[in-house]
Amino acid sequence: MNDCLFCKIVEKEIPAKIVYEDERVVAFRDINPQAPTHILIIPRKHIPTTMDIGEVDKELVGQMHLIAAGLAREEGLEDRGFRLVLNCNKDAGQEVFHLHLHLLGGRRFSWPPG
Ligand code: AMP
Ligand code: ZN
Repeated sequence: MNDCLFCKIVEKEIPAKIVYEDERVVAFRDINPQAPTHILIIPRKHIPTTMDIGEVDKELVGQMHLIAAGLAREEGLEDRGFRLVLNCNKDAGQEVFHLHLHLLGGRRFSWPPG
């Protein structure tokens, strides 16, 4: 995808604080953190939104969650807890149309969300 910000991060055309990467997934710190830990976990594959996840992506999406759990453990969030967020389209305020799982932790979050 030529004009996708997160594809450019995957391709290392734009710098990011990468905390994890493998052949299918990249994770990096959010540029505008909303909590002491704010990491974005993304597939290397360009998938715009949750609505574009296909049967073929089931394992990839599962892997993103496993990586989120591993990073939460590394960040010392295992026991105290954390939040995973995946915004889809307008009402959720999605800004970057390349699937990304937010890992947020290190402070208390309210519910329901704003
Ligand atoms: P969303 O609203 O779910 O689409 O979230 C997009 C997230 O991407 C926001 O939390 C932004 O702060 C973050 N973001 C935007 N540009 C960058 C960047 N260049 N590097 C890291 N995070 C970014
Ligand atoms: Zn992309």
